[in-house]
Amino acid sequence: MFDDLKDKRILVTGASQGIGLAAALAFARSGARVGITSRSLDDNALRAMSHLRAISGDVEHFPGDLSQTPACEQLIERFVARFGGIDVLVNNAGGLVGRKQLPEIDDEFFSHVIDLNGRSALMVTKYALPYLIASAKGSGATTSVILVGSIAGYTGGGPGASLYAASKAWLHAVQKNWVNAHTRDGVRFNVVAPGTVDTAFHADKNETARAGINATIPMGRFATSEEMAPTFLFLASHACSGYITGQVINVNGGQYMP
Ligand code: NAP
Repeated sequence: MFDDLKDKRILVTGASQGIGLAAALAFARSGARVGITSRSLDDNALRAMSHLRAISGDVEHFPGDLSQTPACEQLIERFVARFGGIDVLVNNAGGLVGRKQLPEIDDEFFSHVIDLNGRSALMVTKYALPYLIASAKGSGATTSVILVGSIAGYTGGGPGASLYAASKAWLHAVQKNWVNAHTRDGVRFNVVAPGTVDTAFHADKNETARAGINATIPMGRFATSEEMAPTFLFLASHACSGYITGQVINVNGGQYMP
Protein backbone atom coordinates (compact mmCIF):
# COMPACT_ATOMS: atom_id res chain seq x y z
CA MET A 1 0.00 0.00 0.00
CA PHE A 2 2.92 2.37 0.71
CA ASP A 3 6.67 2.17 0.51
CA ASP A 4 7.83 5.63 1.56
CA LEU A 5 9.38 4.46 4.86
CA LYS A 6 12.18 2.79 2.93
CA ASP A 7 15.53 4.38 3.86
CA LYS A 8 13.82 6.85 6.23
CA ARG A 9 15.88 7.70 9.32
CA ILE A 10 13.66 6.83 12.27
CA LEU A 11 14.43 7.28 15.97
CA VAL A 12 12.31 5.36 18.49
CA THR A 13 13.05 6.20 22.13
CA GLY A 14 12.58 3.57 24.82
CA ALA A 15 12.61 0.67 22.39
CA SER A 16 14.56 -2.11 24.07
CA GLN A 17 11.26 -3.91 24.73
CA GLY A 18 7.48 -3.52 24.59
CA ILE A 19 5.64 -1.07 22.36
CA GLY A 20 8.78 0.76 21.23
CA LEU A 21 10.55 -2.42 20.15
CA ALA A 22 7.50 -3.68 18.21
CA ALA A 23 7.35 -0.33 16.39
CA ALA A 24 11.11 -0.35 15.70
CA LEU A 25 10.91 -3.88 14.26
CA ALA A 26 7.98 -2.85 12.03
CA PHE A 27 9.93 0.19 10.81
CA ALA A 28 12.97 -1.99 10.05
CA ARG A 29 10.75 -4.44 8.12
CA SER A 30 9.54 -1.44 6.10
CA GLY A 31 13.12 -0.74 5.04
CA ALA A 32 13.76 2.17 7.40
CA ARG A 33 17.09 2.94 9.07
CA VAL A 34 16.25 2.67 12.76
CA GLY A 35 17.82 3.97 15.97
CA ILE A 36 16.51 2.77 19.32
CA THR A 37 17.27 3.92 22.84
CA SER A 38 17.13 2.71 26.43
CA ARG A 39 19.00 3.79 29.54
CA SER A 40 21.79 1.28 28.96
CA LEU A 41 22.89 -1.46 26.59
CA ASP A 42 21.57 -4.13 28.95
CA ASP A 43 20.34 -7.64 28.12
CA ASN A 44 16.99 -6.34 26.81
CA ALA A 45 18.72 -3.85 24.53
CA LEU A 46 21.18 -6.46 23.27
CA ARG A 47 18.29 -8.82 22.51
CA ALA A 48 16.37 -6.02 20.77
CA MET A 49 19.42 -5.16 18.66
CA SER A 50 19.90 -8.76 17.66
CA HIS A 51 16.23 -8.94 16.49
CA LEU A 52 16.65 -5.69 14.57
CA ARG A 53 19.94 -6.78 13.00
CA ALA A 54 18.26 -9.95 11.76
CA ILE A 55 16.07 -7.64 9.64
CA SER A 56 18.46 -4.84 8.73
CA GLY A 57 22.14 -3.99 8.97
CA ASP A 58 21.37 -0.31 9.35
CA VAL A 59 20.27 -0.11 12.98
CA GLU A 60 21.85 1.41 16.09
CA HIS A 61 21.32 1.57 19.85
CA PHE A 62 21.85 4.84 21.72
CA PRO A 63 22.09 4.60 25.52
CA GLY A 64 20.98 7.45 27.78
CA ASP A 65 18.53 8.46 30.50
CA LEU A 66 16.17 10.73 28.58
CA SER A 67 14.65 12.21 31.71
CA GLN A 68 17.86 14.30 31.74
CA THR A 69 18.03 17.12 29.18
CA PRO A 70 21.75 16.72 28.30
CA ALA A 71 21.08 13.08 27.36
CA CYS A 72 18.31 14.21 25.00
CA GLU A 73 20.66 16.62 23.26
CA GLN A 74 23.44 14.01 23.02
CA LEU A 75 21.00 11.44 21.63
CA ILE A 76 20.10 13.70 18.72
CA GLU A 77 23.77 14.60 18.09
CA ARG A 78 24.71 10.91 18.00
CA PHE A 79 21.73 9.88 15.88
CA VAL A 80 22.47 12.60 13.30
CA ALA A 81 26.18 11.73 13.28
CA ARG A 82 25.24 8.11 12.56
CA PHE A 83 22.38 8.56 10.08
CA GLY A 84 22.94 12.07 8.65
CA GLY A 85 19.54 13.50 9.68
CA ILE A 86 16.11 12.60 11.06
CA ASP A 87 12.87 11.93 9.19
CA VAL A 88 10.67 10.43 11.90
CA LEU A 89 10.84 10.73 15.68
CA VAL A 90 8.84 8.46 17.98
CA ASN A 91 8.84 9.67 21.59
CA ASN A 92 7.97 6.40 23.25
CA ALA A 93 10.21 6.34 26.37
CA GLY A 94 8.00 6.67 29.42
CA GLY A 95 6.52 4.83 32.33
CA LEU A 96 4.68 4.84 35.60
CA VAL A 97 7.81 5.15 37.86
CA GLY A 98 5.65 4.04 40.79
CA ARG A 99 2.22 4.35 42.33
CA LYS A 100 1.67 7.06 44.94
CA GLN A 101 -1.58 8.54 46.18
CA LEU A 102 -1.75 12.29 46.67
CA PRO A 103 -0.65 12.37 50.35
CA GLU A 104 2.54 10.44 49.46
CA ILE A 105 3.65 12.51 46.48
CA ASP A 106 6.81 14.50 47.15
CA ASP A 107 8.98 16.73 44.95
CA GLU A 108 11.32 13.90 44.01
CA PHE A 109 8.50 11.64 42.77
CA PHE A 110 6.80 14.55 40.99
CA SER A 111 10.02 15.42 39.11
CA HIS A 112 10.78 11.81 38.27
CA VAL A 113 7.39 11.14 36.63
CA ILE A 114 7.16 14.47 34.82
CA ASP A 115 10.79 14.40 33.66
CA LEU A 116 10.47 10.86 32.30
CA ASN A 117 7.18 11.35 30.47
CA GLY A 118 7.05 15.06 29.71
CA ARG A 119 10.47 16.66 29.71
CA SER A 120 12.04 13.77 27.76
CA ALA A 121 9.57 14.02 24.86
CA LEU A 122 9.78 17.80 24.78
CA MET A 123 13.58 17.96 24.86
CA VAL A 124 14.15 15.18 22.32
CA THR A 125 11.66 16.90 20.01
CA LYS A 126 13.28 20.30 20.58
CA TYR A 127 16.74 19.06 19.57
CA ALA A 128 15.38 16.97 16.67
CA LEU A 129 13.22 19.76 15.25
CA PRO A 130 15.87 21.53 13.08
CA TYR A 131 16.72 18.20 11.43
CA LEU A 132 13.05 17.30 10.89
CA ILE A 133 12.48 20.70 9.28
CA ALA A 134 15.58 20.35 7.08
CA SER A 135 14.48 16.90 5.96
CA ALA A 136 10.96 18.11 5.11
CA LYS A 137 12.36 21.04 3.12
CA GLY A 138 14.79 18.82 1.25
CA SER A 139 12.32 16.08 0.35
CA GLY A 140 9.06 17.90 -0.26
CA ALA A 141 7.31 15.39 2.01
CA THR A 142 6.27 16.00 5.60
CA THR A 143 8.32 14.64 8.47
CA SER A 144 6.62 13.15 11.51
CA VAL A 145 6.82 13.35 15.28
CA ILE A 146 4.82 10.72 17.13
CA LEU A 147 4.23 11.05 20.85
CA VAL A 148 3.08 8.10 22.92
CA GLY A 149 0.20 9.21 25.10
CA SER A 150 -2.21 6.98 26.97
CA ILE A 151 -5.79 6.14 27.74
CA ALA A 152 -4.80 7.39 31.20
CA GLY A 153 -4.52 10.88 29.72
CA TYR A 154 -8.33 10.85 29.45
CA THR A 155 -9.31 8.84 32.51
CA GLY A 156 -6.84 10.10 35.13
CA GLY A 157 -5.14 6.70 35.41
CA GLY A 158 -5.31 3.77 37.81
CA PRO A 159 -4.64 3.89 41.54
CA GLY A 160 -1.63 6.09 42.37
CA ALA A 161 -1.04 6.99 38.71
CA SER A 162 -2.28 10.58 38.80
CA LEU A 163 1.02 12.18 37.76
CA TYR A 164 1.61 9.61 35.03
CA ALA A 165 -1.90 10.23 33.67
CA ALA A 166 -1.44 14.00 33.87
CA SER A 167 1.90 13.79 32.06
CA LYS A 168 0.24 11.86 29.23
CA ALA A 169 -2.63 14.38 29.05
CA TRP A 170 0.07 17.06 28.87
CA LEU A 171 1.54 15.31 25.81
CA HIS A 172 -1.93 15.12 24.21
CA ALA A 173 -2.21 18.90 24.69
CA VAL A 174 1.30 20.20 24.09
CA GLN A 175 1.44 18.90 20.53
CA LYS A 176 -1.45 21.20 19.57
CA ASN A 177 0.80 24.20 20.15
CA TRP A 178 3.60 22.59 18.15
CA VAL A 179 1.17 21.92 15.28
CA ASN A 180 0.24 25.59 15.16
CA ALA A 181 3.90 26.65 15.25
CA HIS A 182 5.53 24.14 12.89
CA THR A 183 3.08 22.78 10.34
CA ARG A 184 4.33 25.34 7.85
CA ASP A 185 7.83 23.90 8.39
CA GLY A 186 6.58 20.56 7.08
CA VAL A 187 6.53 18.71 10.42
CA ARG A 188 3.47 16.77 11.58
CA PHE A 189 2.76 15.88 15.22
CA ASN A 190 0.41 13.13 16.37
CA VAL A 191 -0.16 11.04 19.48
CA VAL A 192 -0.68 7.29 19.66
CA ALA A 193 -2.70 6.64 22.81
CA PRO A 194 -2.56 2.94 23.74
CA GLY A 195 -5.11 1.35 26.03
CA THR A 196 -3.85 -1.63 28.04
CA VAL A 197 -0.92 -3.32 26.35
CA ASP A 198 0.65 -6.53 27.61
CA THR A 199 4.16 -5.33 28.44
CA ALA A 200 6.45 -5.06 31.46
CA PHE A 201 4.42 -1.97 32.33
CA HIS A 202 1.77 -4.33 33.80
CA ALA A 203 4.17 -6.74 35.50
CA ASP A 204 2.71 -5.77 38.88
CA LYS A 205 -0.71 -7.27 38.07
CA ASN A 206 -1.82 -10.78 39.06
CA GLU A 207 -4.39 -12.88 37.17
CA THR A 208 -7.29 -11.48 39.21
CA ALA A 209 -6.28 -7.91 38.44
CA ARG A 210 -5.84 -8.73 34.76
CA ALA A 211 -9.29 -10.39 34.62
CA GLY A 212 -10.79 -7.25 36.18
CA ILE A 213 -9.16 -5.10 33.51
CA ASN A 214 -10.23 -7.47 30.73
CA ALA A 215 -13.82 -6.98 31.85
CA THR A 216 -13.52 -3.23 31.13
CA ILE A 217 -12.29 -3.76 27.56
CA PRO A 218 -14.89 -4.51 24.85
CA MET A 219 -12.21 -6.58 23.07
CA GLY A 220 -11.99 -8.60 26.33
CA ARG A 221 -8.21 -8.71 26.52
CA PHE A 222 -4.99 -6.73 26.70
CA ALA A 223 -3.47 -5.61 23.40
CA THR A 224 -0.13 -6.90 22.20
CA SER A 225 2.71 -4.52 21.39
CA GLU A 226 2.56 -5.79 17.82
CA GLU A 227 -1.03 -4.51 17.56
CA MET A 228 0.26 -0.98 18.25
CA ALA A 229 2.92 -1.02 15.53
CA PRO A 230 0.79 -0.44 12.39
CA THR A 231 -0.48 2.87 13.79
CA PHE A 232 3.13 4.06 14.13
CA LEU A 233 3.80 3.06 10.51
CA PHE A 234 0.68 4.92 9.38
CA LEU A 235 1.56 8.13 11.23
CA ALA A 236 5.20 7.99 10.13
CA SER A 237 4.35 7.59 6.44
CA HIS A 238 3.73 10.77 4.47
CA ALA A 239 1.92 8.70 1.85
CA CYS A 240 -0.54 7.41 4.47
CA SER A 241 -1.01 10.38 6.77
CA GLY A 242 0.53 13.43 5.09
CA TYR A 243 -2.58 15.52 5.88
CA ILE A 244 -3.03 14.22 9.44
CA THR A 245 -1.56 16.32 12.23
CA GLY A 246 -2.52 17.29 15.78
CA GLN A 247 -4.54 14.11 16.34
CA VAL A 248 -4.69 11.52 19.07
CA ILE A 249 -5.13 8.03 17.63
CA ASN A 250 -6.62 5.75 20.27
CA VAL A 251 -5.60 2.11 20.02
CA ASN A 252 -7.47 0.69 22.98
CA GLY A 253 -9.88 -2.10 21.97
CA GLY A 254 -12.80 0.17 22.84
CA GLN A 255 -11.72 0.54 26.49
CA TYR A 256 -12.28 4.28 26.26
CA MET A 257 -14.20 6.17 23.58
CA PRO A 258 -13.59 9.92 23.81
P1 NAP B 1 8.11 -0.91 28.79
O1 NAP B 1 7.91 -2.29 28.29
O2 NAP B 1 8.37 -0.68 30.23
O3 NAP B 1 9.28 -0.22 27.92
C1 NAP B 1 9.73 1.07 28.23
C2 NAP B 1 10.96 1.36 27.41
O4 NAP B 1 11.43 2.68 27.74
C3 NAP B 1 12.11 0.41 27.68
O5 NAP B 1 12.86 0.22 26.51
C4 NAP B 1 12.92 1.17 28.72
O6 NAP B 1 14.26 0.72 28.76
C5 NAP B 1 12.79 2.60 28.19
N1 NAP B 1 13.03 3.62 29.20
C6 NAP B 1 12.50 3.70 30.44
N2 NAP B 1 12.96 4.77 31.09
C7 NAP B 1 13.81 5.41 30.22
C8 NAP B 1 14.61 6.57 30.32
N3 NAP B 1 14.63 7.32 31.44
N4 NAP B 1 15.36 6.93 29.26
C9 NAP B 1 15.36 6.17 28.12
N5 NAP B 1 14.62 5.06 27.99
C10 NAP B 1 13.86 4.67 29.03
O7 NAP B 1 6.84 0.00 28.47
P2 NAP B 1 5.70 -0.07 27.35
O8 NAP B 1 4.50 -0.63 27.99
O9 NAP B 1 6.24 -0.64 26.10
O10 NAP B 1 5.42 1.50 27.21
C11 NAP B 1 5.94 2.28 26.15
C12 NAP B 1 5.21 3.62 26.16
O11 NAP B 1 3.82 3.39 26.04
C13 NAP B 1 5.40 4.41 27.44
O12 NAP B 1 5.48 5.79 27.14
C14 NAP B 1 4.12 4.12 28.21
O13 NAP B 1 3.81 5.14 29.12
C15 NAP B 1 3.13 4.05 27.07
N6 NAP B 1 1.90 3.32 27.37
C16 NAP B 1 1.94 2.01 27.72
C17 NAP B 1 0.73 1.37 27.98
C18 NAP B 1 0.67 -0.09 28.35
O14 NAP B 1 -0.43 -0.56 28.69
N7 NAP B 1 1.77 -0.83 28.31
C19 NAP B 1 -0.48 2.06 27.88
C20 NAP B 1 -0.47 3.40 27.53
C21 NAP B 1 0.73 4.01 27.25
P3 NAP B 1 15.16 0.83 30.11
O15 NAP B 1 14.23 0.63 31.26
O16 NAP B 1 16.18 -0.24 29.95
O17 NAP B 1 15.76 2.20 30.07
